[in-house]
Amino acid sequence: MGIETTIAEHMERRHVLAWGVADLTAARDYLAGVSEGYVVDLPRAISIAVPFPREIVDLLAEGPSRTYLYFYRQVNNRLNHIALEIDSILSGEGYRSFPVPASRREGRERIGSIFPHRLAANLAGIGWIGKSGLLIHPDVGPRLRLVTILTDAPLETSSPVEDRCGSCTVCIEACPGGAIGERVDCEDWQGNRLDAAMCDRYLTEVRDRHGVRVCGLCLAACPWGKR
Ligand code: SF4
Ligand code: SF4
Repeated sequence: MGIETTIAEHMERRHVLAWGVADLTAARDYLAGVSEGYVVDLPRAISIAVPFPREIVDLLAEGPSRTYLYFYRQVNNRLNHIALEIDSILSGEGYRSFPVPASRREGRERIGSIFPHRLAANLAGIGWIGKSGLLIHPDVGPRLRLVTILTDAPLETSSPVEDRCGSCTVCIEACPGGAIGERVDCEDWQGNRLDAAMCDRYLTEVRDRHGVRVCGLCLAACPWGKR
């Protein structure tokens, strides 16, 4: 059985929402600027999306939710578990493989991940990066989470997904931190749409007021993936 078939069958067993393979060649210079050096010398990325429970995301519209935070961690654990399994499959076949942990804050200063999962997901054909900076899937919108495995395995790659936000401004209006704008003039793949520092400041305010560091109104408000 070929490596592609083995991986496809594994994804099916794990009930992932979507997965694909990104060719990172065109993004090499961008990645060198935003990633840890040791993750940018592998040519492809397997991107995996799992859905976030819809009803739990709906809770965010009512205010900061500890239940959301609980499942955020659980879904990340699930993604990391799947990434480790794929890493074992690739390594067992003699390929290089680097599982990038599902996004979480890296230390006090760093806000993002060591590698932009949403860029890999976009290039792998899973969805587009919305004005909110979130990866938007045509079925579930931004109600998903991502993980990435970098590899040199010669897997067939997909085409990037075109932006379908159009004239929508729902997440811009929903953002209480003023962190989202029509910043589409930037040449990078994330489009510099989200001001992560402003989002982070707002989250700190929420934590000081409510004792829980959660917002996610951009996630709950996006019309893609809503019932
Ligand atoms: S999490 Fe909240 S503050 Fe941050 S971008 Fe989304 S809506 Fe804005
Ligand atoms: S709310 Fe609208 S503009 Fe924002 S990401 Fe979703 S579709 Fe795009």
